[in-house]
Amino acid sequence: MYDLIIVGAGPAGATLARLLGKENKILLLDRRRLDQPSVLGAKNGFEKACGGLIAPDAQQMLARMGLGVPWGVLVGPQLFTVRTIDMPNKLERYYQRHYINTNREKFDSWLVSLLPPEVDLILDCSFQAFEQSSAGIKVKYTKDGQEFEVWTKFLVGADGAASAVRRRLGAKVETRKYISIQEWFKVSENMPYYSAIFDREITDFYSWTIPKGEYLLVGAALLPSDNAPQKFELLKEKLQAYGFKLEEKIKREGAFILRPTSSRQIYLGDCNIALIGEACNQAFSVLIFGSDLVL
Ligand SMILES: Cc1cc2nc3c(=O)[nH]c(=O)nc-3n(C[C@H](O)[C@H](O)[C@H](O)COP(=O)(O)OP(=O)(O)OC[C@H]3O[C@@H](n4cnc5c(N)ncnc54)[C@H](O)[C@@H]3O)c2cc1C
Repeated sequence: MYDLIIVGAGPAGATLARLLGKENKILLLDRRRLDQPSVLGAKNGFEKACGGLIAPDAQQMLARMGLGVPWGVLVGPQLFTVRTIDMPNKLERYYQRHYINTNREKFDSWLVSLLPPEVDLILDCSFQAFEQSSAGIKVKYTKDGQEFEVWTKFLVGADGAASAVRRRLGAKVETRKYISIQEWFKVSENMPYYSAIFDREITDFYSWTIPKGEYLLVGAALLPSDNAPQKFELLKEKLQAYGFKLEEKIKREGAFILRPTSSRQIYLGDCNIALIGEACNQAFSVLIFGSDLVL
């Protein structure tokens, strides 16, 4: 019997397992191969769609935990200039804000590498369901086509915005949900700033470009009911007309983004089952990593 099973080894789950792992018997499950970060554009498992920027709040949190981001996780250019673009009015403003630019897969793998050896880690597996009884919580997961059952006193869902643990809890918390589409372009020359683009014809949230080594990431948080793929195509047309050079497309990613408008929309779980990070409906409104959200 485990003290705690955590579903999801993203920043929230890996941080919780690291903080509690020495004193408690913990099992951490994830469907990603975080011991083998994927090759860009190759389909060798699940990848997390992310800009990989560590914002000042998240930097503060890492510092409070005594962590410094290792060299191998960083990607150039380091960013301290934000370019905001009001697309319809062609208005621009630059301001200073420092982001640490990282490779997101490597960032997550690094957090997992910090786990105490006492934590049991199972990767490349998929959480399926749980059942509660007086004996504890039975957790079912699959790996290599086989189903396994493990018992725990407490269960934590750290399985992201589309949390299966939250769904299985039957939580009916309404939150504004966006679909994010993000594409990677190989570019010969990159821009030394992170751009935030505002255009209500595209979305009532925002779009972005992020330079990442020899790539430029173009993304947008789009309303699912508003023909998101077409809106994304329109965004790219507008960016190119505005002067952005989008050369060879390497890959396209998608994910949900939650945007709660009140603290009542944050659902932390029920009795011995807790939700943390994006699983509890927390948003990334100011681009913070889930490790902020676990504490
Ligand atoms: C397009 C996009 C760009 C973003 N850019 C940034 C950025 O630049 N900077 C920033 O700070 N934040 C960014 N975010 C937000 C950031 O990704 C989240 O805040 C953060 O990942 C939340 O961490 P988490 O640990 O809660 O969840 P996640 O990172 O989503 O981790 C959940 C984990 O659970 C695992 N999992 C899910 N379901 C199962 C299952 N059934 N079985 C087993 N494992 C499962 C997943 O594989 C994953 O490893 C971005 C988000 C999106 C969508």
